[in-house]
This record gives sequence, structure tokens and C-alpha cells, in this order.
Amino acid sequence: MSIDSREGIRSAARVVVKVGSSSISGANAGRIAPLVDAIAAAHARGCEVVLVSSGAIATGMPYLQLDARPTDLATQQAAASVGQNLLIFRYQDSLDRYDIVAGQVLLTAGDLENATPRSNARRAMDRLLDLRILPIVNENDTVATHEIRFGDNDRLAALVAQLLDADVLVLLSDVDALYTRPPQEPGAEPLVDVAYGDELEGFVFGSVGAAGVGTGGASTKVSAARLAAEGGTAVLVTSTALVDQALNGAPVGTFFAPAPADPAPADPAPADPMTALS
Ligand code: GLU
Repeated sequence: MSIDSREGIRSAARVVVKVGSSSISGANAGRIAPLVDAIAAAHARGCEVVLVSSGAIATGMPYLQLDARPTDLATQQAAASVGQNLLIFRYQDSLDRYDIVAGQVLLTAGDLENATPRSNARRAMDRLLDLRILPIVNENDTVATHEIRFGDNDRLAALVAQLLDADVLVLLSDVDALYTRPPQEPGAEPLVDVAYGDELEGFVFGSVGAAGVGTGGASTKVSAARLAAEGGTAVLVTSTALVDQALNGAPVGTFFAPAPADPAPADPAPADPMTALS
């Protein structure tokens, strides 16, 4: 199904929702519950939802007595190992209110680049969705190194949306929409609709998020949105606080139209009646 406007999001069959570390860890861990409320509402109307959640490293930090995101790889991997477990526990605890079961899916970039693990990942997630389980995806941070990382989870979410032929990708952050320049700067205007192929020339997208524990900013959202749109997935970029409105097709955020669906193959030309008769 091709979703050409944000109103269409409400009737999407398959949606990927991506949430960043700063929205659901530390002082914001309490925001998991309203996020789960919105996902459960979409799930209840029959929508297949996949959650791509960052936050493993940020959630693990206090358990390793770290005040700031570690800079060395081994400590990042250790923090992710501890934090991923707690993150899934917190999601499951919240999902229990709706009798929804979570399935953890940890992927490396290599898994999506190579045919066999790629089709294994697709088959497993299709089956989880058939079983009405909520797949919660993150990068497999404990084995990922700087050289082989996806880069950021916005990109991972776009690749998952492509893998699963999702109708919609919702990219959540601390900001309600993409702006023509960093939102704190004078003259910044929200971008409402982005037509497929619009290069967004002349706009300035920042590269860092607001709160310090995440890795993405507006520029990673734009790159991920383009990647998903090329694969035929509509994209909405908005804030975690507006996820319920976003999933209901309300007029929030920045909407990226997907690549037009390939036209159905034309019927073969009718046989020339004279030739047919001869
Ligand atoms: N996978 C990382 C984590 O869960 C975050 C990556 C990102 O935010 O882009 O901590």
C-alpha cells in the first residue's frame, strides 16, 4: 500500500517507529509508557508495528557508574550489553498492560547487507508480526565496531522499513518537525510536506541531537527519510511526545512522500486481427 499523505498513516498496514536514546532513557525513562500506549493503540486496530529503539548504551550507563556516554568502544559495548537487557525489560513491563509480547531483534549492518542473514531477519520478523508480537529492533552494539556500524539508528530504521516493505516509517526525536534551519535560530520554519525527490536545497540540518546521549540529529533524519522514501515507504518526522497523533494521521511533523509505486505492467498489445486470422 502506498501512503501519499499523513492522513493515510492511520490506515497503514505495517509501520516502523524509531525512538532515540534521549527520549526513553535517564530522566525520560517514564516516556516509555506513553510511547507504548500509542503503539498499543495502533496494534489494537490491526496495524503491524515494529519498534526500532536506541537507548541500550544510555540505559546501561548508570549501572556502570558512568555520567556521560563512554567514548571507547569496549565500554560502549559493555554499557550496551547491560542496557539492552534493561531496555527490553522496561518495554515488556509497559506492554504487559496491553497483553502484548515483545520480541528482541538485534542486527548488525552485515546482517542486512548479505542475502542469507537478510532473508533470515525478514522471515523472523514477518513471523513475529504474524504472531502479533512487537519486534523491538536495535543494532547489536555488543559486537558492532566503529568500522561496521550502521552509523546511527535512523539509518537502521530506514533499512528495516525497506527490508519489511513497511508502508510508513515514523522517526521520533525531541523536536516536533524538521525545520528549515536549526529550530533555535531566528527564521527557522517547520517543513510540513516534502515531495518525493525534493533535494531540500538551501536548508540547514544540524548533525547533533539536543540531549547528548543520542547520536542522530536533523541531518540523519533527512538521510534516513530519503532512503526509506526511495524504497516506497512514507516517512513522518516528529517528536516522541506526538507519536500518538502521528500514528493517527494528525497534522503534525514533517511528511516525506514515498517514491511513486511502479506502474502495473501494461497489457500486451492486442494481436493484429488480420495476423490472427491468417
Ligand atoms: N544502538 C545505540 C544504543 O542503543 C544507539 C545508536 C543511535 O542512537 O543511533 O545505544
